[in-house]
Amino acid sequence: MAVYRLPPELSPFFKAHIAFISENAVNPDRRRYAVVGEAERHFIDLDAYPGDTLPETWPEAVNRYGEEALRKHGIAPWYLQKHLYLLTEAFREKKTDRIIRLATDLGHYVADIHVPLHTTRNYNGQLSGQDGVHAFWESRLPEKYANEYEFWVGPVTYLPNTTETLWATVRHTHAACDSVLLFERKIYTTLPEGRRYAYEMRNQVLVKLQSAEFTDAYHKMLDGQVERQMRSAIRLIGDFWYTCWVNAGQPVLDTVADSPDPEPTPSMPADTLPHTRPDVDR
Ligand SMILES: [Zn+2]
Repeated sequence: MAVYRLPPELSPFFKAHIAFISENAVNPDRRRYAVVGEAERHFIDLDAYPGDTLPETWPEAVNRYGEEALRKHGIAPWYLQKHLYLLTEAFREKKTDRIIRLATDLGHYVADIHVPLHTTRNYNGQLSGQDGVHAFWESRLPEKYANEYEFWVGPVTYLPNTTETLWATVRHTHAACDSVLLFERKIYTTLPEGRRYAYEMRNQVLVKLQSAEFTDAYHKMLDGQVERQMRSAIRLIGDFWYTCWVNAGQPVLDTVADSPDPEPTPSMPADTLPHTRPDVDR
C-alpha cells in the first residue's frame, strides 16, 4: 500500500520490486535470533525510563544511559535514524539492490513502532497476567478483520524533521498501551471461563486462541485502533521512502525489475525460530 502512494517519479521503481518488498517484509524478524544486535531494533520500552525525557539522538542517549542499558530496553527510534541515513545514501549512489533491501527493512521497523506492545516492558502482558495479548492485538485481530480496513491514505508528503517524527510516533503508539491492556482485561473478566478460549489448527498444530466472541468484543472495544495504527504505518513508510529520495537529490532510478538476491545474512523460516521470548515478535 505504501508503494501505491509514491509520486510518478518514484513509483515505477518501487512497483518493479513490489513482490520482493512484500515477501521480504518479515526479514528483520527472521534475523532476530541469528544476528547480534538485531533484536533490539524492533522495540523500545519507553516505560523503562519513568519521568525521563529521552535524548533524541543516539550519542546523547549513550552518554546518559550507556549502550548496554539502552540495547536491553530496545533502540527502535534511534536505530531508525541510522537506517534512514543508510537509505538516503543508497538512493544517492543509485544502488538498486541496496535501496530495495533497506526500504523493505524500513517498512518492517516502521510497522513495529506502530504496535503499542513494542513500546512497553509489559510487551506480552507477562507483568499483568495477560500473556498472549501481543499476538491477540497484532495477529489475531488483523487476521480476522483486515479485510474490513481501509488502507488508502492518500499521496506521500515530505517530512522536514524525521527524528522529530520518529519520536512523536513512538510516543503516540505508547499512549495506546493502556487501552490495549485494559480492554483485554475488561472483556476477559466479563466472559465466563469456558467462553474465553478456543482451539484452532495452525500449521498442523492445535493451538489455544482467544474465542471468536472474545476477539469480536476486543475488536469492537478498540474501536478501529489496529486499523488506525496500520494506516499510520502505511503513511509513515511511504513518507520516509519519499523523504530519503528527495534528500538524496531525487535521483532517476532504473526501473528494470531485478530483485535483490536472497538475504546474505543467516536466516530461518519464521515458524521454526527458537523462542527466547514466548511467541512474540518484538
Ligand atoms: Zn519485528
